[in-house]
Amino acid sequence: MQNNSATESGSPYYQCYLALGSNLTNELGTPQDHIVTAIARLADNPNIHEIQSSSLYLSKPYGVTDQADFINAVVACQTDLAPHALLDVCQSLETQANRQRLRHWGERSLDVDILLYGDKQIETERLIIPHVEIGKRNFVLVPLEEIAPNLKIQGTPISDMPLSFDWQGLALLGTTN
Ligand code: ADP
Ligand code: MG
Repeated sequence: MQNNSATESGSPYYQCYLALGSNLTNELGTPQDHIVTAIARLADNPNIHEIQSSSLYLSKPYGVTDQADFINAVVACQTDLAPHALLDVCQSLETQANRQRLRHWGERSLDVDILLYGDKQIETERLIIPHVEIGKRNFVLVPLEEIAPNLKIQGTPISDMPLSFDWQGLALLGTTN
């Protein structure tokens, strides 16, 4: 479903996909704890429904390689939050995991990115959708293909994207529950 249902207030629901990643243990828990807690918080959000989580994956760091391996997952959901309000939710999950802004693409207790928001294209100072890196990261495309094998990304079937089947540097860890 893209945006063909409506809430009681009349706002449409959008099918969205979020990417979660963590490679830092802090006082609140391990990378796996941060991801599982964030997914539970999304499930508790009254504006977010029909959550579906991928398995957890272990991935080699991307870009900045002198850091610990990451745990990644992708979540599908339906929401009537506007795109920037959904970004606010994602960023508050990062804050709740005590994310410290260290170095670009560096270690973090929690990163929550919006991959897709319906089939909308958005380009503002704070938010670019589809996520600019979506087609370049197997640790996003493999879990996305797991939960949405028929998804199209800007018209391209995910099954036609080679990185959605590229397990280089990636290992399956298990489910989130
Ligand atoms: P990264 O996710 O690339 O490691 P950050 O999590 O530090 O980097 O995010 C940097 C900025 O990217 C955020 O402040 C946010 O405003 C912006 N941003 C742009 N598009 C998106 C998106 N689709 N999802 C999440 N953040 C985004
Ligand atoms: Mg981010």
